[in-house]
Amino acid sequence: MAAERIDGKAFAEKLRARVGEAAARFEQAAGRKAGLAVVLVGEDPASDVYVRAKGKATHAAGMNGFEHRLPADVSQDELLALVDRLNADGAVDGILVQLPLPGHLDDQAVIAAIDPDKDVDGFHVTNAGRLAVGQGGFVPCTPLGCMMLLTDRLGDLSGLEAVVIGRSNIVGKPMAQLLLDANATVTIAHSRTKDLAGVVRRADIVVAAVGRAEMVKADWLKPGATVIDVGINRLPPAEGEAKGRLVGDVDYGPASGVASAITPVPGGVGPMTIAVLLRNTLVAAHRNAGLAPPEGL
Ligand code: NDP
Repeated sequence: MAAERIDGKAFAEKLRARVGEAAARFEQAAGRKAGLAVVLVGEDPASDVYVRAKGKATHAAGMNGFEHRLPADVSQDELLALVDRLNADGAVDGILVQLPLPGHLDDQAVIAAIDPDKDVDGFHVTNAGRLAVGQGGFVPCTPLGCMMLLTDRLGDLSGLEAVVIGRSNIVGKPMAQLLLDANATVTIAHSRTKDLAGVVRRADIVVAAVGRAEMVKADWLKPGATVIDVGINRLPPAEGEAKGRLVGDVDYGPASGVASAITPVPGGVGPMTIAVLLRNTLVAAHRNAGLAPPEGL
């Protein structure tokens, strides 16, 4: 039987609608809209697409979006000065600096300059630490979105075997932490893992966050596993195609013959990321305004 297709796009639309309703209630209670500032340095076309999409989604949810575009040769001091101004700006609840930054700028120093309570991307070391010790800071949007899809499908994850492939600070590590908090038994695999197929075969839950097209094969999966595919990879264009197809890290077609549920690429994890960013911004706004956290998000 073919696996259920986990429809991240539909889930994300519902989450965005709930955020929109909660944003309207926030505006009533606080007398102002929640606000997200997005900083883009340079003109990388992919980053430009993401920033526009974030701005559009922010406005659609009834929040203010403040876009700051800086030239590619901006100095580190000028960028840090902007972050300082945004930290101090009462209309700004969340700050996101679009990564990667041009080579002469230090990503880590810029992230470190963001007020952790406005760090809606959850990349600040304070928020990574809060997640590690269970103190409820901001969690990076992509893994939190994966977690929402998993709990929506599986409910209680207690005692399930979870394998996360990838150990980046923005996806793999926080994903593993969230699964651990949900009482799963968690293994983190990476490029030095021996017998990756054998490790993955143990898993009730597989989260693939590698960046290698269709690497996870159907015969690596335990029958009935739930598979979350974070990878976004563009294949070389086939004959007659202008652009290659987008695929995930999992060999979707064959894998869906073995798994019980699987996210497609595109339309799975991807749409969750922006929806969770809006959710995190609204949570930040409530905290900044001294209000109780929004319900149902
Ligand atoms: P990174 O490149 O930072 O990390 C990749 C991880 O995969 C590393 O931990 C690496 O191991 C591991 N890895 C690489 N090759 C292998 C291998 N052959 N076997 C096992 N593990 C391997 O990537 P990100 O975490 O930033 O992103 C991962 C993927 O997710 C990418 O395709 C990215 O585009 C996508 N992504 C999607 C998002 C969305 O919104 N859907 C958001 C963010 C990312 P090691 O540490 O040993 O090098």
